[in-house]
Amino acid sequence: MKSNRAPAPAPNNGAFNPNLFRRMLEEKRQELNITLGLLKFDSIASAGRVNEEDQAQMSHDEFISLSRNKQDYQALRLVNEALDRVEAGDYGVCQRCEEPISPRRLEVLPWAKYCVRCQERIAERAQEEDDVPTLTASW
Ligand SMILES: [Zn+2]
Repeated sequence: MKSNRAPAPAPNNGAFNPNLFRRMLEEKRQELNITLGLLKFDSIASAGRVNEEDQAQMSHDEFISLSRNKQDYQALRLVNEALDRVEAGDYGVCQRCEEPISPRRLEVLPWAKYCVRCQERIAERAQEEDDVPTLTASW
């Protein structure tokens, strides 16, 4: 009577539904936009009442948060790319070996663009591929 594993939720009778991931991706994108303050900067800019001093300060803060949030920016880019792939109809396919990425991986990392095997290979050479955030290598 072992039950180490929680019963896995049935993944749509095995049918792969990119729209499910599209929603996750859109929510993630929204979340990242807020985290990164993109929405905030946008509204500051449109308010149009930033004097030069504030602007200098803001650029500095922005610079700080840019480097601090570099990973978030990379994640945002991955999320956008994943959404493009949903549109293009090749979502869930490894961009490197063109094998399907396992749905379980996609549930954890809906923006994953490589299968586990390729991701590991790429992580090994992460130094030459600055395209790979540690975010995706952690799974
Ligand atoms: Zn692959």
